[in-house]
Amino acid sequence: MSSIDLIGQTSTKMSLENATAFQKGTRSNDGEPGPNYWQNHADYKIDVELLTDKSMLRAKGTITYHNDSPDTLDKLVLRLYPDIYKKGNARSWPVAPDDLNDGTIIKELAINGNSINVNDSRIVRRSATNLFINLESLLIPSDSLKVDMSWELFIPETQTIRMGNYGNNRLFIAYWYPQIAVYDDIDGWDILEYFGTVEFYNDFNNYEVNITSPPYFTIWATGNLINMNDIYTEKVIRNHTKASTSSDIINIFTIDDCRENRVLKKTGKNIWNFVANDVPDFTFAASLESNWDAASTIADKQTNRRVLVDAVYPDSINTFDKAVYYGLKSVNFMVDSLPGYPFPYSHITSFCNGENGGGMESPMMVNEGDPSDDGSAMSLIFHEILHTYFPFYMGINERKYAWMDEGWASWLSYGIADDLAPDYNYLSRVSASFENISGKEKEVPLMFLSYQIKDYQSYRSHSYSRSALAYAYLRNALGDSVFKSAVYSFIDRWHNKHPGPYDFFNTFENISGQDLDWFFTPWFFDRVYADIGIKKVTFDNKVVVENNGGLPLPIYLSCTYLDDTKETFYRNASVWKNGDRGVIFQLNKDKKPKRIIVGNDIVPDVIRENNEIIFE
Ligand SMILES: [Zn+2]
Repeated sequence: MSSIDLIGQTSTKMSLENATAFQKGTRSNDGEPGPNYWQNHADYKIDVELLTDKSMLRAKGTITYHNDSPDTLDKLVLRLYPDIYKKGNARSWPVAPDDLNDGTIIKELAINGNSINVNDSRIVRRSATNLFINLESLLIPSDSLKVDMSWELFIPETQTIRMGNYGNNRLFIAYWYPQIAVYDDIDGWDILEYFGTVEFYNDFNNYEVNITSPPYFTIWATGNLINMNDIYTEKVIRNHTKASTSSDIINIFTIDDCRENRVLKKTGKNIWNFVANDVPDFTFAASLESNWDAASTIADKQTNRRVLVDAVYPDSINTFDKAVYYGLKSVNFMVDSLPGYPFPYSHITSFCNGENGGGMESPMMVNEGDPSDDGSAMSLIFHEILHTYFPFYMGINERKYAWMDEGWASWLSYGIADDLAPDYNYLSRVSASFENISGKEKEVPLMFLSYQIKDYQSYRSHSYSRSALAYAYLRNALGDSVFKSAVYSFIDRWHNKHPGPYDFFNTFENISGQDLDWFFTPWFFDRVYADIGIKKVTFDNKVVVENNGGLPLPIYLSCTYLDDTKETFYRNASVWKNGDRGVIFQLNKDKKPKRIIVGNDIVPDVIRENNEIIFE
């Protein structure tokens, strides 16, 4: 029932850092945040100017960092993500020579008003994408400090890793400001460098960002635009208001409106004031000429609060004109079915960068390519919007546990794909991708830390497909209503906090009232693989199905008799709960079987030869 059980019944011991957190009471065995749980946060006030002609950003800001931990901090760790483009830095992928630069160019840095020389190695150490600053006066618990900074960076144009200048005056700006790393109860400072593959682990911060745009550019961003009335024409504001209160999809403006100057009040530069509270990041998009579609839907059934679902895209597109339609369907599934929790944000904007595909999430903003077919488009849009819950609302450390967010996004995309594009066979794609690697040397257990995985196929299976299937089969095993209440409780307990894997395991055991080690241990900790087979058929028509791979999978069995009638059987994964190696199915004793087959295309199986018996 508790994390202690989970250790007790297996040879897997909880890591020392996690065990210490449970002892200190920041986490607890029933899956709730512990009585001593804490986390830190920061307030960011940033003025940034977008210089599209130079493909640059110039910014200046103040970060107020609050130490809510019980520890006295003697240093500060700042993440300088743009340093991934710095000459000489390590990266997961090569970067085109044109995009190599000096990373974040720090013009000024001061702590509590005292200016700091970034070249003074006694105080400042810059290592890969991190900036370590030794604090002259210690930051004691319950106190805060101020960091003043001004900086510049180049926006990449060729190798656009999660952000960039995509040409045609379309830009998406993410991973762009000096960000205070997370200091938590498990690891202390998170000092992982950003090499490109691993993504978010951020605190919940407040942002006030004033963005100066070049003339005629429109900006979309995390949070709410406070000075909308100063910026947009009355027609745009009227359309925005209409979309915010109706589920009918409308054009807020079109490319022609941009060309004929019907969007913005001013013809010169604009300053856009955005405010976002309790969010783990801030990103923005800019475009000279776009279509902007929107509609809204209920985000919270208790309060009838609505969320604006909108999409920004250029003229020549394949599928992106359906982005709002797919977005509405996605949010409705998320609120009504799974995760079945109110959608936390006021808007979710899908920005099409004009590339062929791919997508990158951030709070309230998605940077997306334009997929060529509807199946890919709808699953991409669903996937990126689902990230609103995991990792953002849930504060997941996906640098260590990418399966805690990518797995949910990968699995739940079936919610839209099966509805709108059943022929796309979404789950069979997930199953096939796991089947390709399951049982092979390079497949690593889910509790192996994401950032340690260098091989791309290993990383994909670890973060996306194995975990997606684990969630799907856990739902089948627990039943829909128990599973849904466990997911609901997990979100309810941990949103705006930082849950780890044990908080997930413990919450599911606590809410279901079941010991789930039989499922969690093989799916998350062990090197076991997907292989179910027919061991034998007895003289009295009993079929013995054996689990050769050790992974608890559901069993779909079908038998065609000599008279061409057919019988099917289904057992969810809990059939393996007691550790039995075999499961017996009783066929009709009065008939002769012609063909027996176990498994199907939504259950991975690495050895299909033992899945079928044909009686000659
Ligand atoms: Zn994702």
